[in-house]
Amino acid sequence: MCGIFGIYGHDEAANIAYLGLHALQHRGQESAGIVTSDGSRLYRQVAMGLVSERFGKDTLAALPGRAAIGHVRYSTAGSSELRNAQPFLFEYARGGLAIAHNGNLVNADEIRARLERSGSIFQTSSDTEVIVHLLARERGAHAAPHAAGHGQPAPAHGQPGAAPVAEPDLLDRLVAALRQVTGAYSLLLISEGRLIAVRDPHGFRPLVIGRLRDSYVLASETSCFDLIEAEYIREVEPGEMLVADGVAVRSFRPFDPAPPRFCVFEHVYFARPDSLLNGRSVYRSRERMGQRLAVEHPADADVVVAVPDSGVPAAIGYSKQSGIPLEIGLIRSHYVGRTFIEPQDSIRHFGVRLKLSPVRSVVDGKRIVVIDDSLVRGTTSRKIVTMLRSAGAREVHLRISAPPTTYPCYYGIDTPTREELIASSHTTEEIASYIGCDSLGYLSHEGLMEAAGAPPADEGGEAGTGYCSACFTGAYPVPLTGAQTGGQAGGPRGEAGAAPAPAGPGAAASLVPLRRLTRT
Ligand code: SF4
Repeated sequence: MCGIFGIYGHDEAANIAYLGLHALQHRGQESAGIVTSDGSRLYRQVAMGLVSERFGKDTLAALPGRAAIGHVRYSTAGSSELRNAQPFLFEYARGGLAIAHNGNLVNADEIRARLERSGSIFQTSSDTEVIVHLLARERGAHAAPHAAGHGQPAPAHGQPGAAPVAEPDLLDRLVAALRQVTGAYSLLLISEGRLIAVRDPHGFRPLVIGRLRDSYVLASETSCFDLIEAEYIREVEPGEMLVADGVAVRSFRPFDPAPPRFCVFEHVYFARPDSLLNGRSVYRSRERMGQRLAVEHPADADVVVAVPDSGVPAAIGYSKQSGIPLEIGLIRSHYVGRTFIEPQDSIRHFGVRLKLSPVRSVVDGKRIVVIDDSLVRGTTSRKIVTMLRSAGAREVHLRISAPPTTYPCYYGIDTPTREELIASSHTTEEIASYIGCDSLGYLSHEGLMEAAGAPPADEGGEAGTGYCSACFTGAYPVPLTGAQTGGQAGGPRGEAGAAPAPAGPGAAASLVPLRRLTRT
């Protein structure tokens, strides 16, 4: 998982990008990077580690220009090393190009193998580089996003009959490249003095646009707009390409439409609770998940305890619905570094204890309902239950504000293999026994969808939910390749009606002034 941020038309582009990445740090802590453009040259600074630790005054001073894109990374494709730190910066026939990517491409390995066979030399092990190689190889003549014969560009707002602007070859190349990849991508690019934002046709990963006085900002989440005091305008729509240049921000629709499949796990766990996703409060979604959980899996208990931080809103919802008081029974340390010396067997449960500590005065002698947002391998939950019991808890009832995670994600969230997912091969009773809790309950899939604001099944059915929930159902919206399924092309279960990547020209396109796109 990663976070991306972009700004166009600001005198302090690098400084604002730094702040934006700071507010997206929860989306990736392995590496951070910023590329700026002064209109003729691109400047890049990347480093392993946290934004606040690795970007100082001197680093930011080396990033001149009025446009910037930034990236924080948690590796899901490609190893954790500096060469994979984004944004990437490449030189190709038309000059410099920088790219930042959130998401995972499903067919990157296949394309990469093909390109390598025909002579391409890759500099990184990231799937993102595949897009750049495809783009660099494209002639572009057949893939214009505003292709003639597919309607005239809409006149700019307030300028009736404005002449269509001839797009340079860069957009042609980019669209042609993206038509060859499948999977999840929210992208920001800078090249030729322009900032380009693209979201894949299913819209797996979030991307929003806002305004900071006279400049435009783009980001994975709205939470960073609050920090930089930018005004949220709207989501970049699935399948949409926005181009900011010296004139305006223009919108293109270069891909065939596909059913929206936004990652529901962003609502469950990944996004910050102060963000809006699809215009919906993440905090409220999580609170609602907790309320539904209390209805579906009540517990006879004295106190509700959240596993901090992401379990807190769901615990609030559970407490509100059940009437059982919420108390802070687990404290999270915010000072856990990425490297530490681990004693071998001298301190049991060391890793979890470093992050979480029980509050004995809250749990001692009590029947506890513990609310967590996910249960993946079961090892952490087991340690939490043991820790609470050793702090005196009389009973521990575990409630998970999501359904059992039974399938891996191939669209940009780091999950273990199917074999490592405990719910893929064990019943709820078996998992409860392994964890050592008195009872275990998961939120139903229906409950999750309702909490995330999806229309009920009788108002559109499964295909109408607008969400991807493949890690809970195995219904993958974009078919997997042999690389992901161990040779079983098509994946564990393809989603009925899933739209493959469109091929060939024919992109309906329009020039739409940004004001017309503002969501009401
Ligand atoms: Fe999100 Fe799960 Fe779909 Fe991955 S598989 S995009 S984590 S809902």
